[in-house]
Amino acid sequence: MGTIPDSNGWPNTHAMGDLSTLHPIPWVNDGKHKVGEIICDLSYPADGSLLPHCPRNLARKQLDRLRWLGLEFYSTFESEVMLFDLESGNSVAKDMGFSAMLQLSKVEHLFMDADDLLSEATVDVESYHVEYGVGQYEMPLAPRYGLGAADMMFTYRNSMKEIAAKKGFDAAFMTKPRPGPICNGCHFNHSIWSLDNGEQKNAFEDAEDPDNLSVLFKQWMGGLVKHAPALCALSCPTVNCYRRVHHPFSPCKADWGIGNRLASFRVKNRPIPYIENRVPSGSCNPYLVMAATVAAGIDGIETGALCPPEMDAGADGMPHTLQEALDVLQKDKVIANALGKEFMQWFVASKEGLEIK
Ligand code: MG
Repeated sequence: MGTIPDSNGWPNTHAMGDLSTLHPIPWVNDGKHKVGEIICDLSYPADGSLLPHCPRNLARKQLDRLRWLGLEFYSTFESEVMLFDLESGNSVAKDMGFSAMLQLSKVEHLFMDADDLLSEATVDVESYHVEYGVGQYEMPLAPRYGLGAADMMFTYRNSMKEIAAKKGFDAAFMTKPRPGPICNGCHFNHSIWSLDNGEQKNAFEDAEDPDNLSVLFKQWMGGLVKHAPALCALSCPTVNCYRRVHHPFSPCKADWGIGNRLASFRVKNRPIPYIENRVPSGSCNPYLVMAATVAAGIDGIETGALCPPEMDAGADGMPHTLQEALDVLQKDKVIANALGKEFMQWFVASKEGLEIK
């Protein structure tokens, strides 16, 4: 084990439940008892101030900055998972089978029961479908405003693992749980909304533009592309994640494209525009993905960043290792300052001291 990051002697912190996140978890002890779960914010007991390095606080801070600009964030995660038999460790399928009904029917009882339980736990899964890897599935979650999308993803991943284990499956969200060409991504779909004469308006949309994309969209995208290599460290935060980066359908360059799955940022421009940030991997922390994406987009707006052409051949490459990604992140002062020095110290020290070494 490497060096443990210095943290002033590891003092106690207070965990304060956020009542808006309280929900039942009916799969515990097969529903024989009424058990609930709540997401907590961490604060220092001495003065009650929130921990500056807590990812949920960081996401909230960036959303507040966006709100100051008169904009609301609407987003969702689209998470991929590989299913294995818990006892044997074998994949639930033998062949690759994108959209193959047979691969779906093998686990229909897990998904149907899980969906009932997850709904009670306020997790809204939009669909369950087969991805292209052997035994790989994908579950996009329903979009939410503000922190809700990250809270739902956080709850969903833990809950799905628990429910699957009770039914004899290992639900592996890890980026690359087994050798082979297939990895788990966790794409982050998002758009920003403003109030226009009391009506919610998609701020990425401009019907006058040939691509239906507004100036604000172009600035936001300019920010995402500019900071994409730094975003990589925060969205692909484990050594294992770099077995995914630079592979087809995974992030390779800091580029974007309309309807292009080979871009790091795929844009759906009609009927209503949104961005699919394809950088995050299965092992991402949803709060950090949200914080970093919003910080990059806001910088694009504040600096009037130029949006490069689609699929720009001269775009920067993504980092190849976690260490390279951490180095890039530390050099990106805009993202580093947005997240704050306490977070940066803790994140880099934990990654370098506990994971890479
Ligand atoms: Mg997918």
